[in-house]
Amino acid sequence: MTEPAPHAPSLYAATAHEAPERPPLDGDAACDVCVVGAGYTGLSTALHLAKKGRRVIVIEANRVGWGASGRNGGQLHSGQRRDQETLEDWFGFDRARALFDLAEEAKHTVKGLISAHGIDCDWREGLIHAVHKKSWLREADHEVEHLIARYGWDGATFLDREALARAIGTDVYFGGWRDGTAGHLHPLNYALGLARAAEEAGVRIHEGTRALGLDGEAGGARRVKTATGTISASDVVVAANGYLDGLCAEIDAHVMPIRNYVLATEPLGPRASRLIPLREAVADSRFVVHYWRISADGRLVFGGGETYGHSDPKDLKAFVRAHMLKIYPDLADVKIDYAWGGTLAVTMNRMPYFRRLRPGVYTAAGYSGHGVAIATLAGKLLAEAIEGDTSRFDVMASIPARAFPGGRRLRHPTLVLAMSWYALRDRLG
Ligand SMILES: Cc1cc2nc3c(=O)[nH]c(=O)nc-3n(C[C@H](O)[C@H](O)[C@H](O)COP(=O)(O)OP(=O)(O)OC[C@H]3O[C@@H](n4cnc5c(N)ncnc54)[C@H](O)[C@@H]3O)c2cc1C
Repeated sequence: MTEPAPHAPSLYAATAHEAPERPPLDGDAACDVCVVGAGYTGLSTALHLAKKGRRVIVIEANRVGWGASGRNGGQLHSGQRRDQETLEDWFGFDRARALFDLAEEAKHTVKGLISAHGIDCDWREGLIHAVHKKSWLREADHEVEHLIARYGWDGATFLDREALARAIGTDVYFGGWRDGTAGHLHPLNYALGLARAAEEAGVRIHEGTRALGLDGEAGGARRVKTATGTISASDVVVAANGYLDGLCAEIDAHVMPIRNYVLATEPLGPRASRLIPLREAVADSRFVVHYWRISADGRLVFGGGETYGHSDPKDLKAFVRAHMLKIYPDLADVKIDYAWGGTLAVTMNRMPYFRRLRPGVYTAAGYSGHGVAIATLAGKLLAEAIEGDTSRFDVMASIPARAFPGGRRLRHPTLVLAMSWYALRDRLG
């Protein structure tokens, strides 16, 4: 048996609420549903199923929230990862509308779980979108106008260049809008809160327990093998997202792991309120998005930069700081206390990959950087599907997904080339 890896050395790990160590699986076990992975997808699935009276065991190779769910930018966005007009072009208005409604529900589900279970995760309303190219401003405004006109959405306030500069403490952007229904949170404490709520509802969580294989079994039950025992379950949910690492070939073919990086400055004191007076989150329009927010203890938490190969930059603090200084050159004197990386999963079309892979085996993954809301929703829809009502799960599962060309090993060079090209376009402005 290998020891579970500790949480990445992030601001989040340093400010995480105390959580019990959950012992590894010890011997064979049986349950209704076995969930593999304790991030938002797995924990939300487990919680929603347990509330319906199902016996659920979650196994996590490391610690609860060890993956992207404990390391991300903490931004809770409105909408799906792709804009509504694109979805209308692909699927027609009615399906696009159903996807929009689910995304709105995703956001409200996160807020609802936080309040219903008293999850202390520094939730704060407000997220600003900042447009980095003048020529994109019209298109960005149009996107929001379309939401207002066709979807009756009333979350947005437009910001011209001056108003935006006042709101985010930098004049490098050309305009944008404020989404008063989105916001930000402490991602690891949100995951830990979901785990506590799931346990209170009767879920068993085993940390340090890696699924080594999924087998069928006579009588229709599934078996999940681990180094310390086997779990028999009527249904299995694979919720390993970017950390799947070959466990399931079909998911692997459709989602691609990408490394993305975040830093946290030292506490900024009164300077924090001068930077972002309302302490909202901010995300820009780059292909490799820059995203940031002020943490509850007054630090700038800034995400920027990705890698598509197999290794992280040697000096993570310097790597992300260079991105931060493009937006906030005045912060050159500020000390960087933490920098860390995390693995997210993208799909070819940047829409998530929800599937019933075979009877009794489900997955949701590939949120393409939009998982705080949609992974939480995934758990709710997976629970509904396992309970027999697949109607809403199918709205997501019917989104077509193409496998990445080149298979597991060869797809990487192709992706590196494609992604590097878009990242270069960002740099060229
Ligand atoms: C740096 C970064 C910034 C991001 N910023 C944002 C943001 O601001 N807003 C947003 O909406 N999204 C953001 N995302 C994306 C978001 O974090 C993810 O979409 C979301 O957390 C996915 O949750 P998950 O539960 O599916 O996967 P994860 O949280 O990655 O959890 C998967 C878990 O499965 C476990 N596991 C893997 N294999 C096995 C196995 N064989 N057996 C047992 N356990 C296993 C892993 O240890 C891991 O804990 C970001 C991601 C990263 C990396």
